[in-house]
Amino acid sequence: MTQAVRLEDVSVPLGEDFPEIRESVRKICANFPGAYWRDLEQREAYPTEFVRALTEAGYLAALIPEEYGGAGLPLRAAAAILEEIHASGCNAGACHAQMYIMGTVLRHGSDEQKRRYLPGIASGELRLQAFGVTEPTSGTDTTKLKTRAVRNGDHYVVHGQKVWTSRALHSDLMLLLARTTPLDQVKKKTDGLSVFLVDIRECMGKGLEIKPLKAMINHHATEVFFDGARVPAENLIGEEGKGFRYILDGLNAERILVSSEAIGDARWFTKTAVAYARDRVVFDRPIGQNQGIQFPIARAHAETEAASMLLRKAAALFTAGLPCGDDVNMAKMLASEAAWHAAEACIQTHGGFGYAKEYDVERKWRETRLMQIAPISTNLVLSYIAEHVLGLPRSY
Ligand SMILES: Cc1cc2nc3c(=O)[nH]c(=O)nc-3n(C[C@H](O)[C@H](O)[C@H](O)COP(=O)(O)OP(=O)(O)OC[C@H]3O[C@@H](n4cnc5c(N)ncnc54)[C@H](O)[C@@H]3O)c2cc1C
Repeated sequence: MTQAVRLEDVSVPLGEDFPEIRESVRKICANFPGAYWRDLEQREAYPTEFVRALTEAGYLAALIPEEYGGAGLPLRAAAAILEEIHASGCNAGACHAQMYIMGTVLRHGSDEQKRRYLPGIASGELRLQAFGVTEPTSGTDTTKLKTRAVRNGDHYVVHGQKVWTSRALHSDLMLLLARTTPLDQVKKKTDGLSVFLVDIRECMGKGLEIKPLKAMINHHATEVFFDGARVPAENLIGEEGKGFRYILDGLNAERILVSSEAIGDARWFTKTAVAYARDRVVFDRPIGQNQGIQFPIARAHAETEAASMLLRKAAALFTAGLPCGDDVNMAKMLASEAAWHAAEACIQTHGGFGYAKEYDVERKWRETRLMQIAPISTNLVLSYIAEHVLGLPRSY
């Protein structure tokens, strides 16, 4: 019988963990400087070469067990990979979901589904990096989503619309959350939702249409339209009607990983602001000698360290299989805010040059703002803390 892990036995390493992985990620990122990202953004292009380099190094398969061809690393290693990518000035948003969406298949898929999909995802031949939850009308109120999947013989027929589905035009498969039992026929509103693996290649043009969505950053977001797309019943993950639970299971991993990117962003902004503040001389002294310049950078650094510690705790609890939702949500909010404060300090430190594209500050500033909205917005995290951590009445 396996012994349950006790909270007091969970330890959190201090200092730079996974140093070899971090060093190797830094080397890869050095080949993709600011000019690479600026050029992509101008062309609204996908970072194919960057994603290929990460895939070939095996980093996007970090969390897939070795038996399916992945590296079988703990979540904290994947977090370190993403943190370093962002601390290097790069952006993992084009491919980070390849790391974690497969978790739903791994945890809730059948043996046949795991054998069929995971090795291809691990090698990068198969891209599973689109996740269709958000809809235009229901927003954060996920259980009200309107996309319907109706069983018809050995298929489900899907009608509905998703919005902000990132990378759908750069993915072979999409994890889709759809309603299989109407809301007025279920006991609990979280029942009656199901998760499917939609083969985009097979459905495209046959009841599935995907349109790019112009956005503030080069994130490859799309609108997805289902008009009678046929999804084989064998592509249902787990049991029909239990999909909401399966999606929730994956959210903690996703939030830990995205928060690690925010920590990486914060470190990039701080490093960049400090370097500029030392070099830039105005009124015959480096601007970094002024407390008005120093203090916002110093404050953001302190916030980053605090958020990083809480994030490490959250990842350690996740890996130990202990409840981690409270720490994950708090770390997500603090990391996204630390990154934003570092971004603000950095752009202000650069004065007018903060607006010059060649410094990359304005690009990273726009990119990191997203972290306070997606994958979950700050207000929803605060509602979670108020209700689930502090025991206050549910506010919505
Ligand atoms: C670039 C980008 C990429 C994305 N990628 C994906 C993706 O791949 N897949 C996917 O499914 N989704 C994706 N999203 C969607 C994202 O997860 C949502 O935008 C986000 O969760 C917020 O939902 P919403 O936009 O519907 O806001 P709404 O739910 O309409 O909320 C709007 C505002 O009101 C606040 N609010 C709402 N209800 C309450 C309340 N009860 N109390 C207090 N405040 C409240 C929210 O916090 C928010 O600030 C992406 C979004 C963006 C911008």
